[in-house]
Amino acid sequence: MKKVSDHLFPIWRGARGVQGWSWGRSGAKWESAGGEAEDQLLGFDCPVWCVLCRGGRAWLQGACQRGRGAFRLPADMLSIKLPQLFDIHQVPKVFREDGIISGYRHPRSSALDCILSSFQMTNETVNIWTHFLPTWYFLWRFSILCSTLNFLTESYTWPLLVYMLLICVYPFTSSCAHTFSTMSAEARHICYFFDYGALSLYSLGCAITYGSYVMPDCWVNSWLHEHFVPIAIGNTLFCTSMSCYSRFLELQFPRKSKILRTGAFVFPFLFDNIPLFYRLLICCGGSCSHTEALSSHCYHLIFAFLTCFLFASHLPERLAPGRFDYFGHSHQLFHICAVVGTHFQMEAVLADMTSRQAWLISQAAVPSFLGTMGALAVSVLLNLGIISLFSASLLQTPHLNAQSGVASARHSNPGLSQQASAEPKEE
Ligand SMILES: [Zn+2]
Repeated sequence: MKKVSDHLFPIWRGARGVQGWSWGRSGAKWESAGGEAEDQLLGFDCPVWCVLCRGGRAWLQGACQRGRGAFRLPADMLSIKLPQLFDIHQVPKVFREDGIISGYRHPRSSALDCILSSFQMTNETVNIWTHFLPTWYFLWRFSILCSTLNFLTESYTWPLLVYMLLICVYPFTSSCAHTFSTMSAEARHICYFFDYGALSLYSLGCAITYGSYVMPDCWVNSWLHEHFVPIAIGNTLFCTSMSCYSRFLELQFPRKSKILRTGAFVFPFLFDNIPLFYRLLICCGGSCSHTEALSSHCYHLIFAFLTCFLFASHLPERLAPGRFDYFGHSHQLFHICAVVGTHFQMEAVLADMTSRQAWLISQAAVPSFLGTMGALAVSVLLNLGIISLFSASLLQTPHLNAQSGVASARHSNPGLSQQASAEPKEE
């Protein structure tokens, strides 16, 4: 018997079995590849007017067949060369995601397979594109700013320069991490080490801009203002270390690993936003100043909380495992909310930077090269050092190598699915 959720959520069937959308008999139905079912019209009940019209049904069937044939051709051409996909029980535990049942790529994919898979519908495809396309959006915004601002000589713009560089780097790194994360178990961990490093550097970019443009009037030149960026550099080291370390706990203590990783990113976020929280607080008290940016700041905060909620909750796939494997699972929504939040943050920073320029230049020290580009360079080097240390110790961790060994053995065996289904689950 069909469950109620069968009608609520569409199911995308991957490369195995019939491929295409299925949304109950009452809704639209499309199948891109498959067997004999495609030679017949699927449950298409001819409308009354068509039956009444002599020859209408035959004409409509013919038209549908021709349309379906044309629609299927490119999908058939693509499916010939694209890599095979697997279900959750067929891949080593290190590759599994909560609530995602199908659409897994081979755990020993080549770099070319990984790139090709970004054009194939897998459970990572939307993750890849939801950060790859925004990279170009932020690059486009950055190029416009390059033509309107003088980043070379005007030191007031240097915090923005660091921020713009980092909001282009973090989605691009994430997109690459999702693309190449199935080359091996070790590659997967190292890819995500870089992803976490880029996110942690993004938090530094936020701190540098917030310290320069968002700081409330009454906190300018305070102890916190002067030490804001050095503390943020320390936070990036903490964030990258904790999030990378959390991957070592993932298999044995998944809950602990998740809490550690979430905390690693929430902590620098809360620190960076202390000036903003205070500004909003005094605004609620009725003494608002420089209000142009506040609505964008609020939208950013809403999306940031949503991002954190999606990352931690694994909703909606936790409620209906297998229903959101390809579209709509929490990581995709997390990416989208993160990018939309960053967009609002960028708008808010630009608004504060412009509207407060005269006041800030007259009251505070102008941003220094050392406090902006210098802080970025030091943090990049230190974070790369941390990633190298974790990568080196990862390659010496026997149980993770064993995981990839399982994958390697499967790769050499063409009967992967039969063998995998016969193997005990790696719970
Ligand atoms: Zn991601």
